[in-house]
Amino acid sequence: MSALILGVDIGGTKTAVGLADPEGRLLAREWRETAALGDGEALLAGIDAVIDAVLAATGRGRDAVARVGVGLPGTVDRARGALLTAQSLRGLEGVSLKDWFGRTIGAAVVVENDAGAAALGEYRFGAGRGARVMLYFTVSTGIGGGVVADGRLFRGSAGHAGEFGHQVALAEGGDPCSCGGHGCLESVASGPAIARRARRLLGESRGQALLALAGGDAAAITAATVAAAAREGDAEAAALWEETGKYLGIGVANAIVSYDADRVVLGGGVTHAGEWLLGPTRRHALARVMPRLRREVRIEAAALGDDVGIIGAVAAALGED
Ligand SMILES: [Zn+2]
Repeated sequence: MSALILGVDIGGTKTAVGLADPEGRLLAREWRETAALGDGEALLAGIDAVIDAVLAATGRGRDAVARVGVGLPGTVDRARGALLTAQSLRGLEGVSLKDWFGRTIGAAVVVENDAGAAALGEYRFGAGRGARVMLYFTVSTGIGGGVVADGRLFRGSAGHAGEFGHQVALAEGGDPCSCGGHGCLESVASGPAIARRARRLLGESRGQALLALAGGDAAAITAATVAAAAREGDAEAAALWEETGKYLGIGVANAIVSYDADRVVLGGGVTHAGEWLLGPTRRHALARVMPRLRREVRIEAAALGDDVGIIGAVAAALGED
């Protein structure tokens, strides 16, 4: 009887499942587009099919699975293993995935918010290893994260600790944010916010290299376009990354000081820009924290890459200690 762990990452666009050993090594992984949003039964059938594919790839049966970890995009009722709100997974809100996975797999099930699970994954198996207090920032369509202290996820009073994207970044004004506020870090440093700041250059007859890389279509400019332009030597794109790193660095510095953190891990799609994002973020953050923290804290790129969702779910299943 092997003690394998099934990691399940259910997102609004794709569902990824991996089978791992207790050291977080993946034996196999599979993914499918998330089916039929709005139809709970179809969503569950789609998840079941991905599980079958992973087990078939490893030649194992469901009885080989000792634990299941599930990561979900939204606020999770951990006792029931259900989503409380699910803008991106309509049809699953209120459904007890703890019960469903318990029935279909016959193993112990832990359900966690996806950013929290990712933080646990980086802490246990990735760039957070050996830290006392690790802050995980994910920078993509939005900015989220998680706080892991002495091996445990710090959730706050209602499960929203580590929502680093909704720190206030601008003292005055700023674009409206998805949270209902304005001037949040997410509204200036997320992927869409970087693209928006790049497009604003065009109105000033600048950003011509960015526009050319986007095939002349301003709407096609993304954070990846800005990274490509910077790599080609475009000074305006480099300045956009410097400005982004300043915003993000201030957010990181505030979080380091708040939690007395010794490690910050930066993940999410925007970090594909590499040192264009990481360099200025690290520099601006370290310039703003007190000398003791500047000496002790490390700011690192995430290590788990595209597997962070399933490895995070595996880490959540293994429990916190
Ligand atoms: Zn906000």
